[in-house]
Amino acid sequence: MAGKAIRIAGLKKTYGGQGGAPAKEALKGVDLDIPEGSVFGLLGPNGAGKSTLINILAGLVVKTAGTVEIWGFDQDKNPRQSRASIGVMPQELNLDPFFTPRGALEVQAGLYGVPKGQRRSDEILSMVGLADKAEAYARTLSGGMRRRLLLGKALVHRPHILVLDEPTAGVDIELRQMLWENVRRLNREEGMTIILTTHYLEEAEEMCDEIAIINQGALVARDTTRNLLGELDARTMVIEPEETPASLPELEGCEVETREGGILALTYHAREMHAEDVLDAVRAAGIRISDVRTEQPDLEDVFLALTKGAHD
Ligand code: ADP
Ligand code: MG
Repeated sequence: MAGKAIRIAGLKKTYGGQGGAPAKEALKGVDLDIPEGSVFGLLGPNGAGKSTLINILAGLVVKTAGTVEIWGFDQDKNPRQSRASIGVMPQELNLDPFFTPRGALEVQAGLYGVPKGQRRSDEILSMVGLADKAEAYARTLSGGMRRRLLLGKALVHRPHILVLDEPTAGVDIELRQMLWENVRRLNREEGMTIILTTHYLEEAEEMCDEIAIINQGALVARDTTRNLLGELDARTMVIEPEETPASLPELEGCEVETREGGILALTYHAREMHAEDVLDAVRAAGIRISDVRTEQPDLEDVFLALTKGAHD
């Protein structure tokens, strides 16, 4: 089994609560391991706690309880090594307006103790498509350019792990593609572990090997994307019989549930059987069908079901 890039145990964060201010429990005891070399998606609705978790990894938010290990280094016991192992592109576009892109990369490299001879500001600038803006003032950069510069800053110290917090929220298609190309290349060619948060489900489907879904400060699902999507070939055939059935249909791999009014709901996996097989089993049980319809979930449904209560 591959090693773990990140190990999080019992992670809690409560904001505020001092001086009579209402406390906000943003993380309620999260356990999460992220495998080395993966592209890992952290999904959840707004306010779920994604940025809080990311910012704890980045060392920007102080946790209330729990342990965080980054590349095998405990964040509390080995703060320097754990910080050196990770690069974070934050959600907020917080850039010093007085630095040029090259200047910003140099300062960042200095902060991480990268010696002058090992800096690669120009390489990074061209990678993120800012070579021709190397000397422009940050305040003259468009939102998309700032985001690209933030990606560049996250990479100056060649981290093992790259974390992107909502990298494509509100960006145009061109920038989105450029970001994903870079991310894929860093993952494939340099073996960099990538962790990203998003609320675009198609993006997660396309990019991520594994996905965790967080809601109201707690993990509600954690699986390979393949398995999560595998769940989505579930189909439910809803049958209204002409009269109350004397016996229920029996079919291996098909789950039969009776609903109000004698309605039968038969759930099966489209990969394993055809609708016709299910209908045959219904007829074999002597049931005459008065009406039939099918229900079919998509990732949106799975997500909504798992994050119920967060969308009102
Ligand atoms: P997400 O990134 O999933 O949208 P956040 O981690 O930003 O969620 O926020 C989780 C919860 O914590 C939200 O209810 C948010 O309002 C609250 N929160 C985030 N940052 C702060 C803060 N600095 N002070 C108080 N509450 C905060
Ligand atoms: Mg956020």
